[in-house]
Amino acid sequence: MPDQNCPLCGGPATFALVDFGRAKRIQCAVCKTFVVYPDVERLIAEAPRPNREAMSKAASALSDEFVLLISITADTKDPSGRAKQTLGWDSEPADKWQ
Ligand SMILES: [Zn+2]
Repeated sequence: MPDQNCPLCGGPATFALVDFGRAKRIQCAVCKTFVVYPDVERLIAEAPRPNREAMSKAASALSDEFVLLISITADTKDPSGRAKQTLGWDSEPADKWQ
């Protein structure tokens, strides 16, 4: 599996492409396993540190049969008309994301 830094904690991680190559299943010693699409990975990089820590905690709390799917839950515009995207996360069966 290729290597990258974990987008949540910055530690060493590996990833595999899933969902026909559209998403990454990232594996990290600290955060365990979570799934992100490229637009989500970009948002995570811009997210405040407490948010990344919350996602890391949520992912690492799951048992091995589950992975954390991080996704955009709200796609809105703020009063100045700028796009505002909110991240959410939920557990998913790991075998769905092989
Ligand atoms: Zn991590």
